[in-house]
Amino acid sequence: MKIFNPATGTMITDVPEDGAFAVRRKYERARAAQPAWAAASVRMRVDAIRAFRECITARHETLARALTQEVGKPIAQSRNELNGLLERLDFFVAEAARVLRDEKVFADDAEKLEERISHEPLGVIANISAWNYPYFVGSNVFVPALLAGNSVLYKPSEFAALTGQHIAEMMHTAGVPQDVFITVVGGGKTGAALLRQPLDGVFFTGSYATGAKIGAAAGRRMIKAQLELGGKDPVYVCEDVDVKAAAASLADGAFYNTGQSCCSVERIYVDARIHDAFVTAFLAEVKGFKVGDPMNESTYIGPITRRPQLDVLRRQVADAKRKGAKLLAGGSPIRGRGNWFEPTVLVDVDHRMAVMKDESFGPIISIQKVSTDEEAVALMNDTEYGLTAGVYTADEKRARRILGQVHAGSAYWNCCDRVSPRLPWSGVGHSGIGLTLSTYGIQTFTRPKAWHLRRP
Ligand code: NAD
Repeated sequence: MKIFNPATGTMITDVPEDGAFAVRRKYERARAAQPAWAAASVRMRVDAIRAFRECITARHETLARALTQEVGKPIAQSRNELNGLLERLDFFVAEAARVLRDEKVFADDAEKLEERISHEPLGVIANISAWNYPYFVGSNVFVPALLAGNSVLYKPSEFAALTGQHIAEMMHTAGVPQDVFITVVGGGKTGAALLRQPLDGVFFTGSYATGAKIGAAAGRRMIKAQLELGGKDPVYVCEDVDVKAAAASLADGAFYNTGQSCCSVERIYVDARIHDAFVTAFLAEVKGFKVGDPMNESTYIGPITRRPQLDVLRRQVADAKRKGAKLLAGGSPIRGRGNWFEPTVLVDVDHRMAVMKDESFGPIISIQKVSTDEEAVALMNDTEYGLTAGVYTADEKRARRILGQVHAGSAYWNCCDRVSPRLPWSGVGHSGIGLTLSTYGIQTFTRPKAWHLRRP
């Protein structure tokens, strides 16, 4: 499998791809190793994850540069991803023992009858992952899964395969057995071969299209499936905000990681009374973004990681323009080597346009005028997705009322594009099933077992 640098189009290296036989062998190793890992103490597993954290810290800059080279993420944002990873590891390490401890939930007065819950690992799980935040979306799954006593077959995206290898090396250095954490290398065909193994669970991060196939395969097999999918995340800007501050925050929410975040802001609805002022301030922010070499310290917008996405973006802009949208910035691929698209701002958009319905997953934002809170809520909910939604207003009560009516896994007041290890990360509709992060995101890798104990 050839690995290309998306900023330059040059080949970095090639790696051997796992075929069906190799995948089977890896599955068998993971199955054989899992009982001993589950039998080890939680403390031992926590120590291994602590040591993994130390490996990340020791190699921080090298890992950040490798990530930038492979996925094109601007270097400052690669460092941010690694820092965020450390914060997640701290959370999981601090919470694992408490969450995984057996619970006594009932005892009768004579202590004759006792009811307990234990948290058993699922067994061998597949972690099929995306490329846009390989450290984040991978670790949300494989870290708590390992802490809970599972073996993990980790298939990084074919666009982040080298990052996946770095993760595996560090896991093994940290003391996680070679057969308990195994990377499976390849694209969709390899992923499909992995799914054919007798797994105990599949945890997927990626697009709705692939997620739907994975959900169907898991459903037939009756295995646990979690699907963390895409979004078309809306934000509503009320008339009572500090326009400049809201514009700056939302430009970052839309364009950070070159718009390639599952929770990127993709639709902005602005109260008609401040619409023009907001658009002016927003454009000023976008014009200030430095586009260029992702290894450069001051670069904010890098390349598009997957080349085919350039066509998706081009088609969305053409469709919007044909239906009456006005293009205020960008709108085209940037010519030259690598995969580049101009930061793009569209106004006068409406919901007949693909750009307001389909995930863009790139540096495009569309801004629509609205007149009432009710209209804004109706438009925010006019989507098949439901990952995050936000409101910018000075009025907390109003924000809570509006966010209470929006169908989304995460609700943001005066912030956006934000993930916390302490809060569950989930979506509704085409944004997926299940959750990661928070203490629920540790429990999800376990099967609660009910113990009915009657003493003679
Ligand atoms: P993708 O669906 O193209 O690929 C995801 C993974 O699935 C890859 O590892 C790929 O090799 C594998 N795959 C592809 N076909 C398969 C098959 N038939 N069987 C098994 N595996 C298969 O998605 P992507 O381009 O890697 O990621 C982008 C998408 O991920 C966006 O939609 C984004 O919103 C979403 N995403 C969601 C979250 C979240 O937490 N909700 C986080 C990051 C990304």
